[in-house]
Amino acid sequence: LLVLELNRNQYVDFEKLCIGAFKPVQGFMGERDFQNVVDNFTLSSGEFFPYPILLDVSDKNVALVRAASKISLFFESKLVGYLEPTEVFSTDLKDAATKLYGSDDPKHPGVNQFLKLHRHFVAGKVTMVERALFDFSQYEHLPEETIHFFQKKGWKSIAGFATRNVPHRGHEYLQRNVLEHVDGLFVQATIGEARPGDYTPKAISTAYNFLIDDFYGNNRAFFSCFSTVFRKAGPREALLQAIIRRNYGCTHFIIGRNHSGVGSYYTAYAAHELGRRFQDRLGISIFFMHGPVFCKVCNDVVTEKNCKHANIEDCIQELNGVDIRGLHARREEIDVNLVRPQIRSRIEGERLLHE
Ligand SMILES: [Zn+2]
Repeated sequence: LLVLELNRNQYVDFEKLCIGAFKPVQGFMGERDFQNVVDNFTLSSGEFFPYPILLDVSDKNVALVRAASKISLFFESKLVGYLEPTEVFSTDLKDAATKLYGSDDPKHPGVNQFLKLHRHFVAGKVTMVERALFDFSQYEHLPEETIHFFQKKGWKSIAGFATRNVPHRGHEYLQRNVLEHVDGLFVQATIGEARPGDYTPKAISTAYNFLIDDFYGNNRAFFSCFSTVFRKAGPREALLQAIIRRNYGCTHFIIGRNHSGVGSYYTAYAAHELGRRFQDRLGISIFFMHGPVFCKVCNDVVTEKNCKHANIEDCIQELNGVDIRGLHARREEIDVNLVRPQIRSRIEGERLLHE
């Protein structure tokens, strides 16, 4: 049996295919699905899907993969599952990148990552033998587990919130507003390859479980982690996140300002625009949320929809996750208007960021 050793990102996509996180996609995509998704956001079956799920193969393995009827998949030297290859194809990565990212600028980190893929891809159904464990796996759940959990709680409407951050007041504003409209909130922290300066899963989960237990209360919210590939694909990634939350049992998904933003490659509400274009086909409703920022005049967290000062630079303090992460990193004083001081002290003892 041919053996392929998966890298971390390939493993994570393999695992998500197997547990149903990418439904209706259940295997690595072939050329028809790939091209249709890139061109039309649509699988060959006619269903919506915003981003191709691919397994690239190095040039030296192409002939072996073509000849194989079944492939053993290894991750960190352990057998994790099998692939039954149906097709090997190659593509013009630059053309696909332009369509997926709206740019072929190699300085765009998502484009850069995509262009580094080998240009051959193997398609086929996958089956899992064993899940690999990460140091945060105790915080991660399967779709069937969260669906069961929501049913047990009696939640009929659940809003998904994707984050990579320790919560600041802006996140809290969005979540509390949405809790006015749904039975439950599902905060799912996306955990990519550990990079220096990212929050650790422990810091995010400690902060969120504290916020949920001691502030939101009444069993209205649930926190979990989601190991994933950071595709840095802007609006397309936002809609992929929505599809994933649908598969975890959510009825709604929150898309905010600069959602899945990458530098200045997309406008602040590009993900809203794409979400509105496809909202009838997503199978999940979107909360299109604005702002928020802290307004010094209103002395409150506001958005441009409910505060006349929100676009006046002197009146506002941005609630920018990246800047706040820097303050956490340097263990500097953080304005109580930006981060709830109790959350700050709660995570004070944790290793906050990857080094
Ligand atoms: Zn104001």
